Amino acid sequence: MRILIVEDEPKIAAEIARGVESLGLTAESVGDGEEAWYRGGTESYGAIVLDVGLPKIDGITLLKRWRQEGLATPVLVLTARGSWSERVEGIDAGADDYLPKPFRMEELLARLRAILRRAGGHASSIVTIGEVAIDTRNMRVSVKGTPVSLTPLEFRLINYLAHNRDRVVPQAELCDNLYDINNDRDPNAIEAVVARLRRKIKVPLIETRRGFGYHIAGPQE
Ligand code: CA
Repeated sequence: MRILIVEDEPKIAAEIARGVESLGLTAESVGDGEEAWYRGGTESYGAIVLDVGLPKIDGITLLKRWRQEGLATPVLVLTARGSWSERVEGIDAGADDYLPKPFRMEELLARLRAILRRAGGHASSIVTIGEVAIDTRNMRVSVKGTPVSLTPLEFRLINYLAHNRDRVVPQAELCDNLYDINNDRDPNAIEAVVARLRRKIKVPLIETRRGFGYHIAGPQE
C-alpha cells in the first residue's frame, strides 16, 4: 500500500518516509500543494499524511478540494503546535485525524495505522482469514499458528489483498500500490511475488481470476 507524504520540509518528509516504510508500506513524498493535488487526483493511495503549511496550495485548502472531488482516502493532518484553529479547520475540511508538530514518530505511525485500520473496517491489527493470520502492526504472517517469513514486498501484497478481500484486485492496481512511482512497474513481477507467497503460505489463499486480477479466498473470522 502506498502512502502519500505532503511535507515541504525535506528532513521531516524523509523521517516520515522512513517510518512509513518501517511499517511495510511504500512512501511517496511531495513538497508542495500543487504537486500533491496532481498526485492525489491521478494516483491511488492507502492514506495521505498532509502538512498544513505548504507552498502553492495550503493543506486545508487542498483537503477541502479533495473531499469536494469525492476523494475518500484517509488523511492525517500535521498542524502547527498549539494551533487549535488549524485542528478545527482540518477536521472541518475532512481530516480523519490530526497530529500537532513537533511529534514523536511512534505517535504518527500509531495514528496512521489507526486510520488505515478504520478505512479497512478492521478494529484489530490482526486480520484472520481461515488458517492465515496477518498481523498488520508487526508485519507478520502466520499459518496455523506457525510464523511464515516474508519479504517486505510479499507482506505488502498479502496485506493489500487482505484489506481489499471483498473484491478482485486488478494486477495494475497491485502494481500501483506495491511499487514506488519511480520504480519500474512490471506486471510479471506481481505474478512472481504471488507465486512465492503461495509456496510460502502453502494453504490456498490467493486466487487468480484470469483476466481480472487476484482475490483472497477463505472465510473471514
Ligand atoms: Ca510546512
